[in-house]
Amino acid sequence: MTAEQLSRLREIVQAEINEIVQAVAVWRDCNGQDENGVQRIQDHTARMSSLEWKYGMDRRFQELLRLLCRMEHDDFGVCEECGEDISIRRLELLPTTSFCSTCMGRRETARAV
Ligand SMILES: [Zn+2]
Repeated sequence: MTAEQLSRLREIVQAEINEIVQAVAVWRDCNGQDENGVQRIQDHTARMSSLEWKYGMDRRFQELLRLLCRMEHDDFGVCEECGEDISIRRLELLPTTSFCSTCMGRRETARAV
């Protein structure tokens, strides 16, 4: 992977991190308590699904931060299974993947059987 490709990937990841930070900031405004200490979302089911969404965002956020760290190392972009380089197009679409498309396909087939 060239330094240029790596910095482009970093931009993609950083952009997603920024989106999450903004989305969660909006979420806080709509889902916390109002000035009287009353929950803004009263309906239990709605509050639960809203919290699930927030946890999903938190997980993705942590995943992306770890990814930024991994990008500092030489073995970033190398398939964990076969050791081949993961194609740059695949990484641009799925920056957090640890497998090349061949190995991922094989794993999915194995799981389906
Ligand atoms: Zn592979």
